[in-house]
Amino acid sequence: MTLDSSNGGTSSAVVTDRLGRPVRDLRISVIDRCNFRCTFCMPADREYRFLPRQQLMTFEEIERLVRLFVRLGVRKLRLTGGEPLLRRDIEDLVRLLAAVPGVEDLALTTNGALLAKKAKALADAGLDRVTVSVESLHDDVFGRVTGLGHGVGQVLEGIDAAADAGLGPVKINTVVMKGTNENEVADIAGYFKERGHIVRFIEFMDVGTVNDWSLDQVVTASGIADRIAERWPFEPVDRAQASDVAERFRYLEDGVEFGVIPSISRPFCGDCARARLSSDGRLYTCLFADTGPSLRDRLRAGATDDDLLAFLAAHWRQREDRYSEVRAERLRAGLQPAPQRVEMFRIGG
Ligand code: SAM
Ligand code: SF4
Ligand code: SF4
Repeated sequence: MTLDSSNGGTSSAVVTDRLGRPVRDLRISVIDRCNFRCTFCMPADREYRFLPRQQLMTFEEIERLVRLFVRLGVRKLRLTGGEPLLRRDIEDLVRLLAAVPGVEDLALTTNGALLAKKAKALADAGLDRVTVSVESLHDDVFGRVTGLGHGVGQVLEGIDAAADAGLGPVKINTVVMKGTNENEVADIAGYFKERGHIVRFIEFMDVGTVNDWSLDQVVTASGIADRIAERWPFEPVDRAQASDVAERFRYLEDGVEFGVIPSISRPFCGDCARARLSSDGRLYTCLFADTGPSLRDRLRAGATDDDLLAFLAAHWRQREDRYSEVRAERLRAGLQPAPQRVEMFRIGG
C-alpha cells in the first residue's frame, strides 16, 4: 500500500489489485426497480422479484461506504440502478455525497423519463453530470426497445431540462443492436451533435442472463464509427484517463465529441478501476461477476470503519477480474461466454 495525500487531507491508503489496478470509480446502484423494460437489460416477458425497501442500502449507509472508498483511492462516483430517479428523495443522497471530501466527480445514469421533473433539484443538490440512455429517436422503435410503449419525447425533454439546469453537456448512452437501431446510428449522432451533447455508442453486451445475448446481434465499434464517418469527418481524442472505457472522437466541423465503448470487440480490462455496489449493498469487482460480499450486512452487524476499510482493501487486493478479455478468448476459441452473471438492473451499468 502507498500513502496518498491528494484527496484534500483525508489520510488514505491507495490499494491496487493483483493486476496492478487501483480503485478510482465507484458505481452505486440505488434501486433495482425500473419504469422501463429494455430488451437488452430486463425484457418485459419475464417476471422480476424486487428487493423490499429494508434491504436497500440507506443513504447514510451509502455515504459511510463512500467515505471509506475515497480513503482507498475512489475519486469518481456514479449513481445508477435500476432507474435511480425512482428512488425517493434521490437528491438528498446527491447532497450527502457531494459533500464528501475527495469526491471529484458525481454523476448519475438515468433513462430520462423522470428527468424533466428532477433535473433542477439534482443540480441544486450538487450533481456534476448526467448520462441519459436513448436507443432511438422514433416512438415506435423506442417503445419496443424500452418494452412498455413509452414515447421518446419525455426523455428528450428531460435532456433539455438537464442542460438548462447546468448538467450539460449531457452524455447519451446508446446501446446499438443489429436489426433494431443500427440504421439510426448517424441520425442519433446528428441530433445530439447539433445540441452539443456527447453520445457514447455501446456494443450490446452479454451482461446478466435474461437478455438472450448472442454475438450476431452485436454491431461492433468499428461498424458504428463507419456509419458516422459516412456523414461527418472526425478525429480521435486522447483519453482523459487510462481507465476511461470510451474511445473518444471529435467532429472536425464543430469539435463536438462522441465515443464508442467496444466491450466486446476491443475489451479494456487492463485499466479497469471500477468497483460496483449493488442496491442491496454487495460489492462487485466486475460488471460480469456472479456475486460479491455484502457490505450492508457488515455495516448492520456493527463493523467499525477500521474493520470495513481493512476488509475492502483486502478484497480489492485479491481482485483479478478480466471477464471481457476472457470472453474474447473464449469466443475466438468457439466457446460461449461463462454462464453465471449478475443482472444489469441489480448493479447498474
Ligand atoms: N436505468 C438507467 C439507464 O437506463 O440509464 C440506469 C441503469 S442502466 C442498467 C445503465 C446503462 O446500462 C444504460 O445506459 C443501459 O443502456 C446500459 N445497458 C443495459 N444493458 C446493457 C447491455 N446488455 N449491453 C450494453 N449496455 C447495457
Ligand atoms: Fe431500466 Fe436502464 Fe435497464 Fe432500461 S437499461 S431496463 S431503463 S435499468
Ligand atoms: Fe472491468 Fe470486468 Fe468490464 Fe473487464 S469485464 S472492464 S474487469 S468490469
